[in-house]
Amino acid sequence: MTSKRYLLKGGIILGVTRSDILISDGRIEKVAADLIDEKAIVVDISGSVVLPGLVDLHTHLREPGREDSETVLSASKAGAKGGFTALSAMANTSPVADTAGVVEQVYRLGQEAGYVDVFPIGAVTQGLKGEQLSEIGAMADSIAQVRVFSDDGNCVFDPLVMRRALEYIKKFNGVIAQHAQEPRLTVGAQMNEGNISAKLGLKGWPAIAEEAIIARDVLLADHVKSRLHICHVTTAGGVEIIRWAKARGIQVSAEVTPHHLLLTDDLATSYDPIFKVNPPLRTMSDVMALREALSDGTIDIVATDHAPHSSETKDCEWQEASFGMLGLESALSIVNKTMVETGLLDWAGVADRLSIAPARIAGYPNHGQTLSAGSPAHITVINPTLNWRVDRDLVLSKSRNTPYHGYELPGLVTHTFFRGEHVLKDSQILDKAAI
Ligand SMILES: [Zn+2]
Repeated sequence: MTSKRYLLKGGIILGVTRSDILISDGRIEKVAADLIDEKAIVVDISGSVVLPGLVDLHTHLREPGREDSETVLSASKAGAKGGFTALSAMANTSPVADTAGVVEQVYRLGQEAGYVDVFPIGAVTQGLKGEQLSEIGAMADSIAQVRVFSDDGNCVFDPLVMRRALEYIKKFNGVIAQHAQEPRLTVGAQMNEGNISAKLGLKGWPAIAEEAIIARDVLLADHVKSRLHICHVTTAGGVEIIRWAKARGIQVSAEVTPHHLLLTDDLATSYDPIFKVNPPLRTMSDVMALREALSDGTIDIVATDHAPHSSETKDCEWQEASFGMLGLESALSIVNKTMVETGLLDWAGVADRLSIAPARIAGYPNHGQTLSAGSPAHITVINPTLNWRVDRDLVLSKSRNTPYHGYELPGLVTHTFFRGEHVLKDSQILDKAAI
């Protein structure tokens, strides 16, 4: 553990208050103007925005099983580069994270990597098959202390299984994160169902396939008085159902991905499978509804759904290609572009949607806290005036499937502090030996 002291000079906390921040022993020691500390390493961040370390509730780290696509270490570095200090490891690994053994393995790998906290998500059902509940209690009691459960990639389709899962997790204030996809309505589906899919001759994925499951599950959550989280909402209709459920006091939270805040289904006209993702890119009116919902809090958080795929499974014809795209390294810039520059969120809002609220939903200790004396020193610094060009050959992820290759994005993450360690300096990941 570091004993280094750092003095961050000239940053603007949440984009509002210009203050210096003194870090020591992994915590924020002082926040005030014009601090001086002779023993501290000074980091000049004049004019940059300072946020609490970002928390991702939806990350595919691929380990164990697909280490050719990503590892806990490579995803941890990609996360730190994007300003994240906590990731949530989705359960659809091989083997599936449906036992205490697997979640403890992932948790330990995250601790060893040491760039971010990696909190494993447990599978709801054994093997993600949707039939028998997994070892939910054992995963909750393990050293990983799992509180979020998801079969993401698959929908927990059987309503009785979903009900049992929602009932089970109540005893430790857990939450079920649902990948809302009605399977019968999406057999063979390739992209959003609409004018573009008809024109391209690709099998459509109707909005109702998502909305039908969201509607069913908010009613189930209400019935058993448990906590439901909806993964990657993509449709205006889904937003309306969640808005209705929240107005009724149902305990539902929801996430939107950065790519669904920006990209639309007409990108499929290129037939470039880089834009093939589950759930699919939708229409501009859906994008506008999602932005509005994130702004007014109907959608609680942004989560990346970072989904690395090796080139063998992505550089092929659309029909054969895997679903998914990278997200960690570009998330904050995309949120800046779609939400801050459009006036829909201020930086305090960004801190809430990308740090405070996800940490609260998942119950992560020591994350999503205010930037004040005594808080753990998980800190992200973004310079909103710097643009950067995305280059898929420079990403820290082991995979290259970013949809933003060649895009110029606004706002560069320049520094990340994790437990008071300077893990990202001037946008470069530091080797652990050098920290
Ligand atoms: Zn999913």
